[in-house]
Amino acid sequence: MARHLITSAIPYINGIKHLGNLVGSQLPADLYARYLRGRGHEVLFLCATDEHGTPAELAAAKAGKPVDEYCAEMWQVQADLADGFGLSFDHYGRSSSPQNHKLTQHFAGVLADNGLIEERAETQMYSHKDGRFLPDRYIEGTCPNCGFESARGDQCDNCTKQLDPVDLINPHSTISGSTDLEMRETKHLYLLQSKLKDEIEAWIDQQEGWPVLTTSIAKKWLHDGDGLQDRGITRDLSWGVPVKRGDEDWPGMEGKVFYVWFDAPIEYIACAQEWVDAGKGDDWARWWRTDEGAEDVRYTQFMGKDNVPFHTLSFPATLIGSGEPWKRVDYLKSFNYLNYDGGQFSTSRGRGVFMDQALEILPADYWRWWLLSRAPETSDSEFTWEQFQTDVNKDLADVLGNFVSRVTKFCRSKFSEAVPAGGTFGAAEEALIEELQTRLAAYEKAMDAIEVRKSATELRAMWAAGNEYLQAAAPWKVFRENPEQAAAQIRLALNLIRIYAVLSAPFIPNASAKLLSAMNTLDTGWPSDIRDAVTALPEGHVFTVPDNLFDKITDEQRDTWAERFAGTRG
Ligand SMILES: [Zn+2]
Repeated sequence: MARHLITSAIPYINGIKHLGNLVGSQLPADLYARYLRGRGHEVLFLCATDEHGTPAELAAAKAGKPVDEYCAEMWQVQADLADGFGLSFDHYGRSSSPQNHKLTQHFAGVLADNGLIEERAETQMYSHKDGRFLPDRYIEGTCPNCGFESARGDQCDNCTKQLDPVDLINPHSTISGSTDLEMRETKHLYLLQSKLKDEIEAWIDQQEGWPVLTTSIAKKWLHDGDGLQDRGITRDLSWGVPVKRGDEDWPGMEGKVFYVWFDAPIEYIACAQEWVDAGKGDDWARWWRTDEGAEDVRYTQFMGKDNVPFHTLSFPATLIGSGEPWKRVDYLKSFNYLNYDGGQFSTSRGRGVFMDQALEILPADYWRWWLLSRAPETSDSEFTWEQFQTDVNKDLADVLGNFVSRVTKFCRSKFSEAVPAGGTFGAAEEALIEELQTRLAAYEKAMDAIEVRKSATELRAMWAAGNEYLQAAAPWKVFRENPEQAAAQIRLALNLIRIYAVLSAPFIPNASAKLLSAMNTLDTGWPSDIRDAVTALPEGHVFTVPDNLFDKITDEQRDTWAERFAGTRG
């Protein structure tokens, strides 16, 4: 069995994420992790919060809390929501961890030793009132080009002209409103990515089977304009990883921190160290160091398309530039965007459904199933309440839920709450077994290739095949003339419930657990051979009729929710 390292892009600490964020990385990563574990592979599945940078400082100030306290609280909120959605991380770490501080400083040190870091002087807008240098997007003023009064320091949203903060007329800090600003000289460290361009490109060219979406974005950044740019990796902030050269102070860099985008991906590695330090694992290096066993690891990353440049270029630049034997990504799965009901999700306007709200109104499996079966893989996709209602009611309630309900209730009323004995399988049963075997192969193939929508389609088809068999076999009619044959039909159908529970667990883990519990079995063995699997629950095996698996979404609920989430979150 292979070993699989899986990471999901790490969500930023400020605020609760919406369903578009969820389906863009964490949820499909969980699907894949659960599938591989189900197949018997060894998996290490990691995610964390991305905690540094100005937005975290400002969000903490707005909440009236010290930034470390704010981040600790928001980490707990996000960790609880991840649990609520059944995201089965082996560890949910924090980029502010001591492990990440040390590792980030280590990488900066070795990159400097390898001649890949340069100190550059530049001027930046400093706000006396705020007592800090202002990132460009926290400066606003009048656009010199079009006269728009709320142009940002990096760009005018009205005429789209790229700007420098010094271009703005009457600039002010958007944090304090102060106009007491001056251009001040400061020094920063730059990672000389331009020196690594050929090595990065050669590495990308070696990759087989990466999605076009991934490689095209990487190539664009490698070649557009002047090609891969050197990148500032430090900031004049207080919240972050202090700039050090390994364990040593870095003269001239006192009081500065590493840029959040430098330390955030390093957290993927630090998170594995946190996992060990939390007592959940005993060896992080065999997952991350190719000189300590990680050459046998297959490493898959999940992310939204906006994160692709950082994962194909910036983080590899750090790893390659270090000259050390770090495991690099083998397959990078990126997603397009999920839109919301004719527009975009909007965190600032509260438009769309956010993770906490989703769990308030429906169990996680409803969301997991819909989001994954409609994942924005080859293009953007859209959430509408009509589609959500239609899909969930049909797939989960009418097909899977109905099958389970009819089979278990019929057995209880005509036989007992135990797998009935008697009869043998005939042509209809043989045909179903063959169909399921063929579809299972297609399901496994799609899952192995991380084709999320296709996997859902194949799973749904296996549920439907059971339903169609039941409809055609009609044990409720057969029972009157031939109870033995009805017993064989129901015995097959009861075993299908266990098979469905195991195959569906990556998509709908809670319903799956309910089914296994109702079938009174701990056997989660993958049903590789359907013919064997349909006899796993033997004659006489006792079960219980489960409560209704999925309630249907009513038109009234649909309309109420559509109105509630149109954009009013306070
Ligand atoms: Zn303008």
